[in-house]
Amino acid sequence: MFDIKEIRSQFPILNQQVNGKPLIYLDNAASSQKPISVLETWQKYYEEINANVHRGIHTLSQLATEEMENSRKKVQHFINAKHDYEVIFTRGTTEGINLIAYSLGNSNFIKKDDEIIISYLEHHSNIVPWQMLCERTGAKLKVIPIDENGILQLDFLDQNLSEKTKIVSVNQVSNALGVINPIEEIIAKVRKLSSALMVVDGAQSVPHFEIDVQKLDCDFFVFSGHKMYAPMGVGILYGKEEILEKMQPFHGGGEMIATCSFDKTTYAGLPFKFEAGTPNVGGNIALGAAVNFMKKVGVQNIRNHENTLLEYAQKKLLEIDGLKIYGEKAKRAGVVSFNLEGVGIASDVGMILDKLGIAVRTGHHCTQPIMDFFNVAGTVRASFAVFNTLEEIDALAEGVKKAQRMLM
Ligand SMILES: *Cc1c(COP(=O)(O)O)cnc(C)c1O
Repeated sequence: MFDIKEIRSQFPILNQQVNGKPLIYLDNAASSQKPISVLETWQKYYEEINANVHRGIHTLSQLATEEMENSRKKVQHFINAKHDYEVIFTRGTTEGINLIAYSLGNSNFIKKDDEIIISYLEHHSNIVPWQMLCERTGAKLKVIPIDENGILQLDFLDQNLSEKTKIVSVNQVSNALGVINPIEEIIAKVRKLSSALMVVDGAQSVPHFEIDVQKLDCDFFVFSGHKMYAPMGVGILYGKEEILEKMQPFHGGGEMIATCSFDKTTYAGLPFKFEAGTPNVGGNIALGAAVNFMKKVGVQNIRNHENTLLEYAQKKLLEIDGLKIYGEKAKRAGVVSFNLEGVGIASDVGMILDKLGIAVRTGHHCTQPIMDFFNVAGTVRASFAVFNTLEEIDALAEGVKKAQRMLM
């Protein structure tokens, strides 16, 4: 049974007023709120366990290690990775993609005139690390185009995939528009026409979809904890064992060595080779609690609820004259991104909504190329999570109408 009241009661932050109005939090694509179970897990770690992991003989250190490794296993099962050591703790999606790009660059994997393909719909963190890699190696960056609905034009892949293609990196759901990309179809093309490695940016899909990395058959899958009800500063890089084995480490330091002397250092095995330094132990353990939260509510229930919200939001917003939704005709998840005709600045709308207690994102959403494509400086983006309600969508639509009256 999906009980929205009961779910909302698990999010203490929702019990507050902002600017004298009950908080309506519609900025989940930037960072979702956290349920009590996650907050308590985090606090319990610091109150009762706090110790460094993997190197202590004492009880607390062993307990911390056990809890963190349990959390790794929870994530492993959540995304159906084959082995727990294919699941690497990071700071988030950004660090995961930088790790892959840096390490592949150092592993002689990519050379001058090789090609890397991304898409027009990527977050800056799935653009810039590849540009940096191209600058270092002389490889070329190619970009899958979109149409006016924000739908990827996949015939580009038929024309451009070749043995020169070394990496294809695409998100499963766009953060700016919410467009769901046909990732299975993309992976099938990549496999058929090249021997490129396939990277999936799952930052916006893990909060909404059931993920099966083995079924997807991607080589890497990266995501952030803070967009799926876990704390900030934790994330996951999944990689296939045989590829991770061949890759050079990213950061050097403690935890990631097998032996270290001034003449020669040998590296630890997976996953520790990629986890230099003291990790965010409390955060990593709390990520396991977020996985438990999502499983308990049911990922499919979350998705169904958010789809109801999305359809309703689209309907209510399109009743407003002169409101344009970007990616309106595309299949989307959890996001509605829009502008009001004649209101040049999205942040003006966001400011008026904030006065009404409604938190939305305005601006370029770390996706300037998409904004350039639609020839706008930014959009207003409302993004949903499991705790949002139809009444909140009504308030959003009323708020947008009010902003329109005030700004036109
Ligand atoms: C948020 C986001 C990122 C970056 O995630 P961080 O948590 O800031 O590292 C990358 N890609 C997509 C699609 C995102 O939504």
